[in-house]
Amino acid sequence: MADPRGFLKVRERELPADRAVPVRLMDWREVHEYRAMNPEDQQMLKRQAGRCMDCGIPFCHQGCPLGNLIPEWNDLVRRGQYREASERLHATNNFPEFTGRICPAPCESACVLGINQPPVTIKSVEVSIIDEAFARGLVEPVVPQRLTGHTVAVVGSGPAGLAAAQQLTRAGHTVVVLERDDAIGGLLRYGVPDFKLEKRHIDRRIEQMRAEGTRFRTGVEVGVDITWAELRTRYDAVVVATGATEPRDLPIPGRDLEGVHFAMEYLVQGNRLAAGGAVEDPISAKDKHVVIIGGGDTGSDCLGTALRQRAASVTTLAIGKKPPTERPENQPWPTTPTLFEVSSSHEEGGERTFLASTVEFRGDENGHVTHLVLATTEYLPDGRRVPTPGTERIIPADLVLISMGFTGPETAALTEQTGADLTGRGAVARDDSYATSVPGVFVAGDAGRGQSLIVWAIAEGRAAAASVDAFLQGATELPAPIPASAVALRP
Ligand SMILES: Cc1cc2nc3c(=O)[nH]c(=O)nc-3n(C[C@H](O)[C@H](O)[C@H](O)COP(=O)(O)OP(=O)(O)OC[C@H]3O[C@@H](n4cnc5c(N)ncnc54)[C@H](O)[C@@H]3O)c2cc1C
Ligand code: SF4
Repeated sequence: MADPRGFLKVRERELPADRAVPVRLMDWREVHEYRAMNPEDQQMLKRQAGRCMDCGIPFCHQGCPLGNLIPEWNDLVRRGQYREASERLHATNNFPEFTGRICPAPCESACVLGINQPPVTIKSVEVSIIDEAFARGLVEPVVPQRLTGHTVAVVGSGPAGLAAAQQLTRAGHTVVVLERDDAIGGLLRYGVPDFKLEKRHIDRRIEQMRAEGTRFRTGVEVGVDITWAELRTRYDAVVVATGATEPRDLPIPGRDLEGVHFAMEYLVQGNRLAAGGAVEDPISAKDKHVVIIGGGDTGSDCLGTALRQRAASVTTLAIGKKPPTERPENQPWPTTPTLFEVSSSHEEGGERTFLASTVEFRGDENGHVTHLVLATTEYLPDGRRVPTPGTERIIPADLVLISMGFTGPETAALTEQTGADLTGRGAVARDDSYATSVPGVFVAGDAGRGQSLIVWAIAEGRAAAASVDAFLQGATELPAPIPASAVALRP
C-alpha cells in the first residue's frame, strides 16, 4: 500500500548540454514533502485509515512504546474529525510531528493486518493528523490552571527532557530546561539532519512550551557551570535527560590519521551549516571518497549529508550479514523484525557493503587518510565477528566517518558530584519509577537506557514526569506509559 503522504522529493536538474551527465541537486529540506492535503489526499488518507480493523486486541498498542491509541485516531481520521483525532493523539504523545516523521514505526510490525497483507501505514496517518492540526490552528498552549510552588530542573533538551518538561509544566510545577548546547532539541537539533526533520518543527513546539510556562536556558553545562549537587539543592527535583553520546571507537592502525572522524563530529557541523551557522574549518565531503563505517541510522544520515556536499563516492561498510527483506520465520508477527532497510539517503546514492571488517587505515606522507583496508567478516562459533585472513582488499578513502553506535552517557560529573549509581553498562541506574539512587533525582531517555529511539525518549520522559509529580505532591494524575523495568525488557 502506497504511503499516502510521503511524497518523495528529490530535486533534479539537467546540466547544460556541454555536460552529458544529469546531476542531482539535493537541498537540505525534508525529503518527504508533507504538503497541505487536497481533497484527493484526504480521500486517500481516509481509505488508508479505514483499513484499520479496530481489532479486539490492538497489538499496535503494544508495538508503540507510547501506547498510542491508534485504532481510535484511525477511526476519527476515517470520519474526517481532525480535532478529535489530534486530541487522542496528544493524549499519549507530546510530539507526534517528530515520531510521525522519523520513528521506525514498531507499531506497524505489530499491526494485525500485517499477518497476511501490508499493515496500515500508521506513521503516515500520525503525521497527517498532527500536520493538519497545526495547519488548522488546533494545537494551542495548555496552560496550567494553578501553580504548585514546586520547582524542577530538567537537564538536557532532547525528546526525553522536552516531554518531561511539558508534562511537569502542565501539572503546575515551575520547570526550567538546562541545555549545554546553543539551541534546544538534543539530537533532534544537531544529530538528525534537516532532510529527515526540519528544525522548524522543534521551534514550533518550543514556542508552545514557552507559552505554557516552561523556561529554557541554553549554554549551561550542569557539572561544569553549576554542580549537580548545587542544582539538586536549588530545585525540588531534578530530571537527568542528558542522552548517551559517548561514541564507540575503532582502535585499529591508522586511527589517528587526519580525515578519520566520529560521525557525530561531522553531523553536528553539517546541521549547523544547514541552519546557516558558521563553522570554522568544517569537515567537508566535497569531491572526496567517503567511507562510512556502520550501517545504522547515523551512518545513513552521514550518507545523505555527504551526498548533499557532493562527495565523489560514498561507501557504507556494515560488519554483519545483509538482513533479509522479508520477515524471517524466527522473528514472527507481532515482533519487530530486523530487516534490510532502505532509507531515503540509500535511495539517493552510495554503495553498501556487508560482511566488511575494517582492519587498517592508511595515509599519505602528510598524515592524511587515503585508503582503508577491509576484509570479509567471519562468524566464529561463539558468535564473535572477525576479519577472515587472506581476504584483505584496499579501497580509497579521503574521509572516514566512524558510525559504530554509542557506548553510553557521559556520567563522570554526575557520579562524582552526587554519588549516583550506574548500571553495569554505564547508564544512570534507576528503579521502576525512573528514580536514581540520589533522592529527588530522576533519569529519562538515552541517559538511562542507552542510545535508543525518539519514541522511547518521549515515553520515558512522560513516565519520569509522573514519578516526579508523585514525589513532589504525594500523588499524580499524569499518565505514565511504561515502568522502567518493562522498558528494560524491550529493544
Ligand atoms: C545521527 C542520529 C540519527 C538518529 N536518527 C533517529 C531516527 O531517525 N529515529 C529515531 O527514533 N531515533 C533516532 N536517533 C536516536 C534519537 O535521536 C535518540 O534516541 C534521542 O534523541 C534520545 O533522546 P534524549 O532526550 O534521551 O537525549 P538527546 O537527544 O541526546 O538529548 C540530550 C541533551 O542533553 C544535553 N546535555 C548532555 N549533558 C548535559 C549537561 N551536563 N548539561 C546540560 N545539557 C546536557 C545534550 O547537549 C543534548 O542536547 C538518532 C540518533 C543519532 C545520533
Ligand atoms: S510513535 Fe512510532 S510506534 Fe508509536 S504510533 Fe507513531 S510511528 Fe508507531
